[in-house]
Amino acid sequence: ATMPPLLSAIANAGRHGVLVKSAVVMERLGQVNAVALDKTGTLTEGTPKVTDIRPLAGSGLSEGELLQLAAAVEHPSEHPLARAIVDAARTRDLDIPLVEDFTSAPGTGVSATVAGRTVAVGSPTRLLRAGTHRVVAVATGLEEDGHTAVLVMADDTPVGVLGIADRLREEAAATATALERLTGIAPVLVTGDNPRAAARLADEVGITDVRAGLLPQDKVAAVKELEQTGRKVLVVGDGVNDAPALAAAHTGVAMGRAGSDLAMETADAVVVRDELATIPTVIVLSRRARRLVV
Ligand code: ADP
Ligand code: MG
Repeated sequence: ATMPPLLSAIANAGRHGVLVKSAVVMERLGQVNAVALDKTGTLTEGTPKVTDIRPLAGSGLSEGELLQLAAAVEHPSEHPLARAIVDAARTRDLDIPLVEDFTSAPGTGVSATVAGRTVAVGSPTRLLRAGTHRVVAVATGLEEDGHTAVLVMADDTPVGVLGIADRLREEAAATATALERLTGIAPVLVTGDNPRAAARLADEVGITDVRAGLLPQDKVAAVKELEQTGRKVLVVGDGVNDAPALAAAHTGVAMGRAGSDLAMETADAVVVRDELATIPTVIVLSRRARRLVV
């Protein structure tokens, strides 16, 4: 017997490096008419590097001490920004002190007790309630250059800012173009990162609809809002922060290499080797298979 179209399509998607978890998913991929792409780890490579270390005057910290403090708190975290900070400390041969009471808030940052001090590392806008601090200017400057600014606070006082940059995936812009050309869908950018860095990257990729500064539940709300206008949304993401949106969307696709275990488990399909360009391909495969089925 010849293989049913949806099963052939699954095999075909597999040859392109996309693991589609079921025939139902293979069918749903062809129904989507909106695509929401995450930024960090999805459009970017997900291996960011620390580019700037700026202890605040008056913090009493050297560059090395600031990096060491941040690395200690980030050590237990899986987040790509955490890995960048820990790697930067290791590259400089800094000891990474052990911490206690580690907590992590997806889309915001991490905190822990280091040598008796409560240290928080994360998004400046989330950690600073009022925007009056001197660090805001430093952070904004970094963000305008397309960096992610990471604030370090000790006992509720800002002590420094790290600038972190991630490379755009080589195929990011071509994927956005191919998506429009092959499927007629203009993608939306949904990111927890700051609006300035998001706008800068969206410009490079050719995305005009940008939703930034989103917490995990805000990504869900963005998906729901798109679905209220009658659209069926495909979410592509990699992080723990993307899991709720991957679950809420009509179809969720996770990145396999940059991706967290939670994202891969929650998603309906996995782009095994992170080849973003396969996203339009699987939508087309599904549409073709559906025409053969019905
Ligand atoms: P994205 O949606 O682009 O993948 P995330 O939701 O993972 O981004 O993160 C959003 C923002 O939350 C980051 O830009 C950063 O400011 C902050 N953040 C999240 N986790 C961490 C962490 N472990 N260390 C520092 N900052 C973090
Ligand atoms: Mg991400």
